[in-house]
Amino acid sequence: MAKVVCVLYDDPVDGYPTSYARDSLPVIERYPDGQTLPTPKAIDFVPGSLLGSVSGELGLRNYLESQGHELVVTSSKGGPDSELEKHLHDAEVVISQPFWPAYLTAERVARAPKLKLALTAGIGSDHVDLQAAMERGITVAEVTFCKSISVSEHVVMTALNLVRNYTPSHGWAAKGGWNIADCVTRSYDIEGMHVGTVAAGRIGLAVLRRFKPYGMHLHYTDRHRLPREVELELDLTWHETPQAMYPACDIVTLNCPLHPETEHMVNDETLKLFKRGAYLVNTARGKLCDRAAVARALEGGQLAGYGGDVWFPQPAPQDHPWRTMPHNAMTPHISGTSLSAQARYAAGTREILECHFERRPIRDEYLIVQGGGLAGVGAHSYSKGNATGGSEEAAKFEKVG
Ligand code: NDP
Repeated sequence: MAKVVCVLYDDPVDGYPTSYARDSLPVIERYPDGQTLPTPKAIDFVPGSLLGSVSGELGLRNYLESQGHELVVTSSKGGPDSELEKHLHDAEVVISQPFWPAYLTAERVARAPKLKLALTAGIGSDHVDLQAAMERGITVAEVTFCKSISVSEHVVMTALNLVRNYTPSHGWAAKGGWNIADCVTRSYDIEGMHVGTVAAGRIGLAVLRRFKPYGMHLHYTDRHRLPREVELELDLTWHETPQAMYPACDIVTLNCPLHPETEHMVNDETLKLFKRGAYLVNTARGKLCDRAAVARALEGGQLAGYGGDVWFPQPAPQDHPWRTMPHNAMTPHISGTSLSAQARYAAGTREILECHFERRPIRDEYLIVQGGGLAGVGAHSYSKGNATGGSEEAAKFEKVG
């Protein structure tokens, strides 16, 4: 029987919820490209409840224990004394969410001789050293599409927040002010602006579709071009490289995976290509950007705003410059873990576990690495190599609240 180690974020500071703001979730039949939602044989949780924190256990305990497996759930993941480290030596499966990633570096993979499956309860498996997984024959899988729409909503919200100067204006209202001029000296309309996405995959395309009704001009760059009919339908301008697209855009949004080819793609040099006063929205991965270069661009006015929910490492240390840099609309990593998204990725995690333990094939659309190489969706979107370097810094995080 297998040991399954599941690394989840902590419960709310005032305890696991006993009631919720809403009674149900809308029913979603299919993803926009026709892919079916997760199809586990059963679920043991109520959709709409908090599943991604330690007490929520992704709704997996009954299922795994009824099959005779051992489930360890912990939020302790950083440094050599963490719970994760203690269980690595005999874990067959490690489950982790990108919001609170269990970094599986080559050193940790070497300390996990029985590890067969690194399962991302979500999308984005860059916290796993994919090269090390390939060399050891470990399968890496994620729940493709489960929260792509959730993230695209966060991108639109963040762009509107920055361009319209929402957060500082809310701040004036909350502290008793009526400072119209203070609020509006950095406030614009997005109508007529040029917005460009780096990558037009599931999230990038959903972002473009959502910006279309705002009367914006839409741009994209990607390794593969979208079908002609989609380009025509959305009146898209394609650029061969991100560098070619940046000068055309008032708002740039990053929607590609982190892998060695994309690490630090936004840096001091590439930021010079942006229009002065551009906004940058990044809900993909913090390490796509050189963090110090972003802070410098905001301080110097090259960027008018930066927002998103992804940092490197995660959790971000207290002294991470993005916590305090000017004109930021940062949140912790939350865009893909709304209660709506959690119901989908918990079901997808269960589906992948059922396949693993019943020796049935995992859907191609969920596979990142298998059989010693990139596989399935991973072969399309990722590149070989490792993007976990520097993740040890996450151990510097100290809890607040
Ligand atoms: P998809 O796989 O659908 O799309 C990724 C796209 O990125 C593909 O079109 C791929 O191109 C493109 N791409 C890869 N490398 C490059 C490159 N070097 N230059 C340009 N384009 C590139 O994934 P999703 O849209 O669902 O998710 C994208 C990323 O967003 C995830 O990998 C993850 O890092 C992040 N994410 C963040 C979440 C959050 O909570 N904030 C939640 C979910 C995802 P092609 O396939 O054509 O080669």
